[in-house]
Amino acid sequence: MGGLWFTEKQTDHFGITMKVKRTLHTEQTDFQLLEMVKTEEWGNMLLLDGMVMTSEKDEFVYHEMVAHVPLFTHPKPEHVLVVGGGDGGVIREIMKHPSVKKAVLVDIDGKVIEYSKKYLPSIAHELDNERVEVKVGDGFMEIAESENEYDVIMVDSTEPVGPAVNLFTKGFYAGISKALKEDGIFVAQTDNPWFKADLIREVQHDVNEIFPITKLYIANIPTYPSGMWTFTLGSKRYDPLEIEESRFHPIETKYYTKDLHKAAFVLPKFVSDLIGTG
Ligand code: SAM
Repeated sequence: MGGLWFTEKQTDHFGITMKVKRTLHTEQTDFQLLEMVKTEEWGNMLLLDGMVMTSEKDEFVYHEMVAHVPLFTHPKPEHVLVVGGGDGGVIREIMKHPSVKKAVLVDIDGKVIEYSKKYLPSIAHELDNERVEVKVGDGFMEIAESENEYDVIMVDSTEPVGPAVNLFTKGFYAGISKALKEDGIFVAQTDNPWFKADLIREVQHDVNEIFPITKLYIANIPTYPSGMWTFTLGSKRYDPLEIEESRFHPIETKYYTKDLHKAAFVLPKFVSDLIGTG
């Protein structure tokens, strides 16, 4: 293969590979290796520690599915917290909901925010919205210090390595429950079922012990390993599958629809088997 190619290795025998036009920025931050690259196929792309975080071409799938599933499940989301998410994609989607009075974003790495604004403006452009408060800090501590504050919490973190290790623990989910109001909802990205089955199983188990309603949903994201991505949703009161039609208000999306909201919870058999609902 000619030219410069980048591979995110998933196992010793499998990876996802793409051609890079040029590197826009490389920096070892206090937390991770940050790279912004321009790719032939996917537009500008953010890599952290050699893993694909987001690309201009397919980012809408992930960001819409993190944000709109819990926001349409909750009848009146006003206060929202995003843990991680420094590229701003989830915030951009949250801003499409007029009921949201304030969204707080806490990313541990200010450099992700800075370089996303510079090289991923179509993703990051709502970070300066006046309804948004951006904090640079550890999401684990932010959660530990919050009580009965949020209607919806979204965890848009890196994989459970480096600074995100604590964000995949039962103690963190218990903290999220405390930080949520009595009818709050949370969602976290939980990687893919082909190579991270144990992680998904563990998170489902832990969340299920804390939240009365725990569900897994999926989306198709071509630049993430295996292409099939999961999200774990924990809810204190509202079932994401029992939403009145009137709750869906029109917003501009490219992946999420009200039918897809429900369809995303229909799992392939091997996935429902792995979380014990098959
Ligand atoms: N969508 C991506 C994925 O699924 O691979 C992740 C997006 S990326 C913006 C995740 C962000 O989580 C990074 O900017 C990283 O700095 C942040 N992060 C990691 N650990 C964190 C922590 N403990 N507290 C807050 N943010 C954290």
